[in-house]
Amino acid sequence: MGSESLVHVLLVSFPGQGHVNPLLRLGKRLASKGLLVTFTTPESIGKQMRKASNLTDQPTPLGDGFIRFEFFEDGWDEDEPRRQDLDQYLPQLEIIGKDVIPRMIQRNAEENRPVSCLINNPFIPWVSDVAESLGLPSAMLWVQSCACFEAYYYYYHGLVPFPSETDPEIDVQLPYLPLLKYDEVPSFLHPTTPYPFLRRAILGQYKNLDKPFCILMDTFQELEHEMIEFMSKISPIKTVGPLFKNPKASSATVRGDFMKADDCIEWLDSKPASSVVYISFGSVVYLKQEQVDEIAHGLLNSGISFLWVMKPPHKDSGYELLVLPDGFLEKAGDNGRVVQWSPQEQVLAHPSVACFVTHCGWNSSMEALTSGMPVVAFPQWGDQVTDAKFLVDVFKVGVRMCRGEAENKIITRDEIAKCLLEATAGPKAAEMKQNAAKWKAAAEAAVAEGGSSDTNIQAFVDEVKRRSVELLSKPSIEFVSKSKAIDVAEFIEKTTYGNGIAEFVEKPANAKLEVVES
Ligand code: UDP
Repeated sequence: MGSESLVHVLLVSFPGQGHVNPLLRLGKRLASKGLLVTFTTPESIGKQMRKASNLTDQPTPLGDGFIRFEFFEDGWDEDEPRRQDLDQYLPQLEIIGKDVIPRMIQRNAEENRPVSCLINNPFIPWVSDVAESLGLPSAMLWVQSCACFEAYYYYYHGLVPFPSETDPEIDVQLPYLPLLKYDEVPSFLHPTTPYPFLRRAILGQYKNLDKPFCILMDTFQELEHEMIEFMSKISPIKTVGPLFKNPKASSATVRGDFMKADDCIEWLDSKPASSVVYISFGSVVYLKQEQVDEIAHGLLNSGISFLWVMKPPHKDSGYELLVLPDGFLEKAGDNGRVVQWSPQEQVLAHPSVACFVTHCGWNSSMEALTSGMPVVAFPQWGDQVTDAKFLVDVFKVGVRMCRGEAENKIITRDEIAKCLLEATAGPKAAEMKQNAAKWKAAAEAAVAEGGSSDTNIQAFVDEVKRRSVELLSKPSIEFVSKSKAIDVAEFIEKTTYGNGIAEFVEKPANAKLEVVES
């Protein structure tokens, strides 16, 4: 079947690596299930993705469907430093996006690829406004844990007390979550956070939470069962993770890296089983130089082999280039590798890797946990501190190396070496490995045919298809001139989780649709 005859969904991504990866993985899953997927994000990132990942202009077949890319100009010069400032960049994206996305949809309709649904990730909640204005359904992919989704929800609606200026160190109790110490609450909810713009960015989604007909989540039933069940009574949640595990497409097919991954697999192949520590702090976190020095000495003192990702800072980030101590690489010899970017999914699945020193971003957390990889938690800020709590205390796959940037403490080389040894040898290491193996098996079952996440994705695809038939029977959508609005039947969904599976129920409601006057 050609790609034109398939139901078409448009995925709009905020241009961050931690946002692009899960949305692109969702796109691959949806394509595998027989949809035509177009993935879009600003050209500034598109250019990097094309270069790093060899993306083609042609739709790529995946399973029963196809995936293709279209990038859009965000209206700023190539070198515009304001992209690093979310308070400036998010409004710019909204102004431009509300213009270019409808045009993109119109162009696709003219080319026989009418769009049936829009899906966005957090930071760009206006995508559901665009969908609404065109009479199209929209969904949102939440890219953090369900626990964090609940924490923001409770904060946004003021349902329980959170740390405040007068009470900065109170613990927070949320339904079905373990008690979160003040420094385990997503850190940008704190009044003194240095990242209030991230709080504004993430909470922006909550203003529009009633618009997407479905909130897809990169987690799975068996992992956050009670929270998912609880929050799904409030929001139309469907768990579809871990998205990076796609039974129908290898991780090498259609990737969204912003930087080409350095080759390190051959080097890992040369190492004994469970002998290497993998260290990476994701795409955004930069440590202090002093902390990097301590990690370097801790690694050498521990004698353990390591693969360490040290990405160069973005030129407009204001961060200094981090350097390794004099003679470090010589002393490490073949025992260590330092790279700028790694093929992380492959690294975490590699038998030579014993554990992962991670900043606990949600993507890295899910990738580690469901690859059966124990972690050493080194969170810095945001949801990382909450994810670290879950990895260590709830999922029981990690040891803690620090509590977060707010602690304002340099972790010494001795503490680092001690933690690494604990995570790689001895009874604690064995116990964590066993627990991680259980989560890996549970995740594989969730994404296998008929598993909880697979069933939810299938239900979502079926629903998008059903709505697309509805759309076809409606008058064509007006993109250019404003014309009269008519009442149409809208379908809203209800989610039930008695059996762990979401299902849709149809209900008529009044909605507005712009129609062409003929
Ligand atoms: N990643 C990668 N290679 C690296 C470091 C990170 O491929 O060397 C990927 C990683 O697999 C994950 C994403 O980048 O999918 C980082 O997302 P995460 O949520 O962990 O952290 P963020 O970068 O958003 O802080």
